Amino acid sequence: MADAGESTGAAGKHVAGGSAGTAGRHGVRESAVPSGSHVAGIGVQTKNVVEDGRPEEGFRMLRDAGFSCADFSLNYYLTNTCLYRMERNSFFDRSDQELEAYFSPHKAGARDSGIRIHQMHMPYPVYVPNGKKELNDYLWQVVAPKSMRLCAFFGCPYIVVHGLKLSRQLGSEEAEWEWTERFIHTIAPLAKELRITICMENLYGNIGGHIVEGPCCDGRKAADRIDRINDRYGAEVLGFCFDTGHANLAGIDFEDFITTLGERIKVLHIHDNDGVGDLHQIPFTFTKTRENKASTDWEGFIRGLRAIRFDKVLSFETAPVLSAFPDGLKSEALGFIAKIGEWFAGEIGEREV
Ligand SMILES: [Zn+2]
Repeated sequence: MADAGESTGAAGKHVAGGSAGTAGRHGVRESAVPSGSHVAGIGVQTKNVVEDGRPEEGFRMLRDAGFSCADFSLNYYLTNTCLYRMERNSFFDRSDQELEAYFSPHKAGARDSGIRIHQMHMPYPVYVPNGKKELNDYLWQVVAPKSMRLCAFFGCPYIVVHGLKLSRQLGSEEAEWEWTERFIHTIAPLAKELRITICMENLYGNIGGHIVEGPCCDGRKAADRIDRINDRYGAEVLGFCFDTGHANLAGIDFEDFITTLGERIKVLHIHDNDGVGDLHQIPFTFTKTRENKASTDWEGFIRGLRAIRFDKVLSFETAPVLSAFPDGLKSEALGFIAKIGEWFAGEIGEREV
């Protein structure tokens, strides 16, 4: 399936959100994907930037910082911390029409700032282990399909979903995947109808203080499963979201993983950590020792994306950066993240690492 909303520039390069690398209306860069790059845009989460009362201001701030795309943080309307307490709020009790009315200012704000909603995150978990049937039924039957329809409302082609974390209870990763696949089948027909690709994300687990691989950490298995399900539906209903921070925590070989998944990778979650906690910070922040290189294998990341000729959006999942930095530095922090995106775009498009 073609990426809805991506336009092809005059030179055959994908560009997004206006004229690449040119000065914007307010003297700031609107989009700065370097020439020679195949990347379609640079994005970041809306969380901690776009606020419900005045969403247009947040989208303007993203545009002014140098972003052309956004990852709409739908998951923050029904958070994992709430769900893991076996609780839920009433946000998704709204009808589809009420939800669309709620998010109309967000959609208009993004459009007016030339920001494309390239991806969004479905609330997670979609299944609470040991949770009440009533809660889990609500997540599968109400939250998931309403999220899919909101994704379509935003004209967003990709929605990121977490696989179920059940391998410990069920005894194997295969049994765990069966449950995840059962969930996928509940929304795949809707994905086909709405022309949305559901993107599975590599996760990690924590067993007694040890970080372990979570769902979707085996690239070969993930590739086979995606192909098999897409064949069954005759559409690209399933894709992959590569999360750099989770991959670092689980010790995944970036280049091998990315090249194994290849064009099945539709979406990125770019962020950094110290290899111990899922901190969602700015790339190149952490090192292993004072003299050492970055904690995360950014060179492998670049080599992998270059090898698969990644032509989608470099999207950062760095919302916690914006609560760590003072509010007065928010636009500067965002600008720096966008600048790193531009640098990645240049590296992926051109030189050998
Ligand atoms: Zn992520």
